[in-house]
Amino acid sequence: NGPNDELGHLVATLNSMLDSLESSYQELSESHAAQRRFVGDVSHELRTPLTTIRGNVELLRRMGDEPSPMRGEALADIASEAERMSRLVQDMLVLARADAGFTLELQPVLVEPLLQQVGRQARMLAGALDFTVEMKEDCSQALVMADADYFKQLLLILLENAFKFTTPPGQVGLTAQCGPEYVEISVTDTGMGVETEEQRYIFDRFFRSDKARPVGGTGLGLSIAHWIAEQHHAKIILDSSPGQGSTFKILLPSYGSGEETGDEWSKD
Ligand code: ADP
Repeated sequence: NGPNDELGHLVATLNSMLDSLESSYQELSESHAAQRRFVGDVSHELRTPLTTIRGNVELLRRMGDEPSPMRGEALADIASEAERMSRLVQDMLVLARADAGFTLELQPVLVEPLLQQVGRQARMLAGALDFTVEMKEDCSQALVMADADYFKQLLLILLENAFKFTTPPGQVGLTAQCGPEYVEISVTDTGMGVETEEQRYIFDRFFRSDKARPVGGTGLGLSIAHWIAEQHHAKIILDSSPGQGSTFKILLPSYGSGEETGDEWSKD
């Protein structure tokens, strides 16, 4: 039973770490109310998987060395909850850095290759859904100022949601329209949509609609997406009809075209 005891000990340690994290944040002054609430929410969200892990460790401990079909289930539950905790911690770190004033460094980036790359990555996640990538007007030379890695992350957050909240034989699309002032990038799905009264909360940290809860997720994706958009001086707008689908539109200032200078990297 050695490994189970160690796991049990680890869970207890994590729990007491959360306790001290919470109590140290209680001491933050009123001006930090938002951060305090965030840490409170984070710690609440981390405790839920921790409780499941603890329960399963107890179960394994009671089972001893007896072979049992429940052993596999208990281990699978532990693995998936640990995975969830790890996703939460990763998302939380991005937001903690954002709160600490971390800013992105923007460079001229060609729109089309970036979108095609995201499209290729997303295709692997599309499963049975019909997924299309489309450049509505010629975007081949269009430039935007972006942090390519973060901008890809923003699009992947929107695409993963589109896949998650759409059931086959639904459709998901990634489209771009490149005008002289704005590049408009849309992620469209024919999924469950967002209730009108919930739309105003959609970018809030930890918000998940009641219908979305069973689907799983951290509720942090769209707040990260919102921060990345803000860093790009971009607007992100939701247009959704409940039961019919959603479109998340990103409006990004154009940085002209690579063709004008013949060299997209020579501008500043
Ligand atoms: P998560 O997807 O991890 O739950 P997000 O912050 O990415 O967290 O999204 C918050 C909530 O917004 C989701 O739980 C869901 O209720 C709603 N949502 C986001 N994208 C969509 C979409 N494409 N269709 C329907 N609902 C969505």
